[in-house]
Amino acid sequence: MRQTNKIKVILVHPPLLNVLSAATPEYVDENRGHTPPLGLLYIQAAVEHSAHESIFLDGDLEEWDHKETAMQALSHNPGLIALQGMTFTFPDAYRVAKEIKLLNPDAKVLVGGPHPTIYPIETAKLEHIDFAFAGEGEFDFIAFLDVFRDINARTAVPGIASKNGNEVIYTPSRGLLKNLDSVYFPARKSSKYNNYTSVLAKSNPITTMITSRGCPFNCVFCNRMGRQYRFHSAGYVLDEIEDILSLGIKEIFIHDDTFTLKRERVKAICEGIIDRGYNFSWEARTRIDCVDKELISLMSKAGCHRLSFGIESGSEKVLKSMRKGIDISMVGDIFKWCMDEGIITLGDFMFGNLDEEKEDIDKTLKFVKRLRPDYVQFSICSPYPGTPLYEIGLKTGVVPGDVWLEFANNPLKPFQSPVWTQHFTKDELIKITASAYRSFYMRPSFILKQLMNIHSFNQLKTLARGAVGILRK
Ligand code: SF4
Repeated sequence: MRQTNKIKVILVHPPLLNVLSAATPEYVDENRGHTPPLGLLYIQAAVEHSAHESIFLDGDLEEWDHKETAMQALSHNPGLIALQGMTFTFPDAYRVAKEIKLLNPDAKVLVGGPHPTIYPIETAKLEHIDFAFAGEGEFDFIAFLDVFRDINARTAVPGIASKNGNEVIYTPSRGLLKNLDSVYFPARKSSKYNNYTSVLAKSNPITTMITSRGCPFNCVFCNRMGRQYRFHSAGYVLDEIEDILSLGIKEIFIHDDTFTLKRERVKAICEGIIDRGYNFSWEARTRIDCVDKELISLMSKAGCHRLSFGIESGSEKVLKSMRKGIDISMVGDIFKWCMDEGIITLGDFMFGNLDEEKEDIDKTLKFVKRLRPDYVQFSICSPYPGTPLYEIGLKTGVVPGDVWLEFANNPLKPFQSPVWTQHFTKDELIKITASAYRSFYMRPSFILKQLMNIHSFNQLKTLARGAVGILRK
């Protein structure tokens, strides 16, 4: 029988002290500030609109260690503690779970997010975890809380994997939400929203926003490839922006995989921002084949100040192998249109891609030199779980065994994400990446431009730290 006893749940963003890194050298991530964990804030909003109670804690923002985070969570006398578990941050989530159980073995611990979505059974099997939640949690998580005190009923909730003695019972997720407008705005008010800042922002405080989920493209290295694309209506997005601005937040990082996929929707959002007189800056990520001159101009008028483009390689051969599906001859025009409109460009590139050889890397380096984006991010291709690249790696032996599964089974064992070593060793790829960073960011013209844009001591400090980080490598 369905019980509706009120449950107090503590939603916890773990401190990020042991983040797995392979793809992005650590000096790039240094000093970036903090962004709100939106996934948890969506859940917080759903709980706030239910019969249950929840408190959101950001251990990373508070700069707590794992034990302090566990103590803070337990101090609220919760019925359930739910931890966010991304793949890269899973060692931290698990360390917090361990501290919670050391302090109180009777506490109930759940982990949700991308990692348990790929490995629900392995996650629920772990010693310090009681439940794993797979999939998008806005509705089924509430259904789980509704029946939490009924052991049989809770194991039947879609997406829940729970321990049953030495076994795990897993009820598969119902799949993805269809109507995104049916979810509540993330509960930013329940977080310390004024404390989220970024060195990449034009103005602080910042927040993140997701206006669409999924991506219909097929990049071989990406675990979002082919995932059903769903989006919020322009009206929903505009109302959420109004909600954000009412908190005094100055800048929004739109974290969609491809914000401009539906041109008419983006047009309606931009026109709405202009018509409603909203004054804020924002940035988004997109693809070369999803923008045009007119749209770039409209986005600029609506406050867009930076666009990130995943270009990945300057070699047609490599782009074809990785199924990127873009025509690099279009990139130059698009970056110029952005520059004409005052939009800062960020190009994402990777080294060590599928089938990539030395001459392909040289092509990428020459391409970046010609293109002159405002900023670049170079990373090293890593075969992530749930991607076609990982499957290819397992079949061809480029990946020596199911290392991600081993990690899922033992997240406290020292682990580094594998890199794609088809034609280069990991050390070679690290050297290539470091050298590419140095030659891009240590150019006199780049340094001069940055110095001319400095308006505060903090900006100078940030620039100096970034420069030291790059030189150190
Ligand atoms: S890399 Fe970007 S465009 Fe390609 S599948 Fe992933 S999210 Fe989509």
